[in-house]
Amino acid sequence: MGALVTRLHQASASPSLSVDLAAVADNTRRFVALARGEVMAVVKADGFGHGLGDVARTAVAAGATWIGVTSLAEAVAVRESGVDVPVLSWLNPVDVDVRQAVRYGIDLSVPGLEHLAAVERSGPVRVHLQLDTGMARDGAAPEEWLALMSAARRAELAGNVSVVGVMGHLPCADTLGANEPGKRALLRGVEMARQAGLRPSVRHLAATSAALTDPGTHLDVVRIGAGLVGIDPSGTTPLRSALRFTAPVVQVRRVAAGTGVGYGHAHVTDRATTLALLPVGYADGLSRAASGAAEVWLAGRRRPVVGVISMDQVVVDVGDDAVAPGDEAVVFGPGEQGEPTVADWARWAATIPHEVVTGIGPRVRRSVG
Ligand SMILES: *Cc1c(COP(=O)(O)O)cnc(C)c1O
Repeated sequence: MGALVTRLHQASASPSLSVDLAAVADNTRRFVALARGEVMAVVKADGFGHGLGDVARTAVAAGATWIGVTSLAEAVAVRESGVDVPVLSWLNPVDVDVRQAVRYGIDLSVPGLEHLAAVERSGPVRVHLQLDTGMARDGAAPEEWLALMSAARRAELAGNVSVVGVMGHLPCADTLGANEPGKRALLRGVEMARQAGLRPSVRHLAATSAALTDPGTHLDVVRIGAGLVGIDPSGTTPLRSALRFTAPVVQVRRVAAGTGVGYGHAHVTDRATTLALLPVGYADGLSRAASGAAEVWLAGRRRPVVGVISMDQVVVDVGDDAVAPGDEAVVFGPGEQGEPTVADWARWAATIPHEVVTGIGPRVRRSVG
């Protein structure tokens, strides 16, 4: 039975996602070349769906000198993938396992007094003091900053923390000219840190958009996530997309005009046509919100996905063209042959490319190219 299952599995193509690490390397080199300081590769959310360890190792080989993540678990996974550059984890819970961070050589962000008190008990540990530079999200509120500076200085003198950096994040970096308030806030925060006797050597503020459009925000390190995997939220710079998502046709049928397709008959054929079934749906990351708009590449051209996108399957209208079970459809790719792109799927689903690439479901087979 086991042998039979294995043979069937090998004999049939299945939905698969291939990751082009050469594209990630190219994108990384581009940021390394344009950054005034260093590049931190942000590999949270499994490297934006591209594989945390693969993206981290590729980015470091291409010149990134820092890695950024949003949990200690991800930071440990980065270390265990063989990366030895500095790794910073932010968004840590207040009871983060500081001893584990120290053991793995992980820097922690400190967004307030509670976090400082928690980390200094288990230090010495390297920290980046995090200021909210205008998002009302993570980081210390400006009115807490002075108290945080004095407490951090006391903790440093006691030998429990080493303040390596000061970080902020820009709220409106996709809009040209909107970064001044955030930048001023960060520089003021660094000045206050110095007045408190701290000597942070790594000031970081910019992510992909600001790195591409506003060199004045680069400071010592830019934190690049989306850009590494070919997403440019600023719309200014062509980057290389790294994903190719394919699925085999599992069934083909000829239907008459007036045939209702799928749940609720959301689509009714207006002519006799051929429908091809693909075994991928919203559980695999094809947003149901893209129903009625989405297309795939099949048999040499783009074809509409018809009816609502189901959990496990979609139906493609191929007209009178010849398509057979086993033919490969491209859900999205870099777009070089005319196939849909991640940006197309984001538009069809009324979202951003980041959500498409981080939303690919766990049953899609992944491979690295
Ligand atoms: C995710 C994240 C980044 C990376 O942003 P991109 O726009 O994807 O480059 C940078 N900084 C912080 C604080 C983040 O959470």
